Amino acid sequence: MNGRARSAARVKKMEQAFQCPICGSRMTVKEDKSLVCTNKHTFDFAKPGYLNLSVRPAKGHYTKELFEARRRIITESGLYAPLHERLARMIKEHTRSSEIPSTVADLGCGEGSHLRRILEACCCPEMTGIGLDLSKEGIVLASKRYAESVWIVGDLAQSPFADGSVQVILNILSPANYKEFKRILARDGLVIKVLPRSGYLKEVRQSIFKNSENRMYRNDGTTALFKKHFHVLDTASLHYPKELNKAELVDLIHMTPLAWSSGKRDIEAFIERDSAEITIELDILIGCPPVSINGK
Ligand SMILES: [Zn+2]
Repeated sequence: MNGRARSAARVKKMEQAFQCPICGSRMTVKEDKSLVCTNKHTFDFAKPGYLNLSVRPAKGHYTKELFEARRRIITESGLYAPLHERLARMIKEHTRSSEIPSTVADLGCGEGSHLRRILEACCCPEMTGIGLDLSKEGIVLASKRYAESVWIVGDLAQSPFADGSVQVILNILSPANYKEFKRILARDGLVIKVLPRSGYLKEVRQSIFKNSENRMYRNDGTTALFKKHFHVLDTASLHYPKELNKAELVDLIHMTPLAWSSGKRDIEAFIERDSAEITIELDILIGCPPVSINGK
């Protein structure tokens, strides 16, 4: 079975989780090649299996090279391995064993490696991974490499998911749209946000930014906004160093948008080393839908 047919078969089993990104109506898989809404808006499965459900063109800042570098860092360097383990553990802890989450959606998934690694760490084949990103380049790579999940080019602000259709939303170091998250999250669902703390990749920022404004991550506002939309069930912080070799440092620079605006000489100085210790410092927020007084 090719990627297109395999993906169409998988989506067919979960059609009810989708809604048309244009008109909001229900969607069905037709002839193993398209997802079609009741108003006949038609989206074809691409050859590698992904669906393009985006209703606006994406800005092409993120290249295939960036996503290749990101994949190597996530899957080969081990830089994020403790994060994946922790997230898998938290998903299991907050999901009753009788109610294994059936869909885990990474919104802003890039080339999909975080989602893949987290699902592997969950050791739960019943979970279906869904990755959504506005960047087609990222989704193309994800669908070629991780055929067991559903990959969608789509917009967070106008997502193609039905109300209450997603059991676990992951939002990892990526912008959020809480209004939309609340709409698509199942009533007993979880939303898990990973955000950087001030020490996150500080070695990168200290060497390539002369301007101290750009050296710090501040996320007080992000946390407060999350708490406004969701009931916080749990929080965690991760803080650890990881030694990266020269090739990994080059990949790290290539996958880091904050490096793009810096001078070439600063970047060269950063990667002109055989190895360096890199700091990961992250906050994890786990929320569920807020309890509503009128039961809605
Ligand atoms: Zn439609």
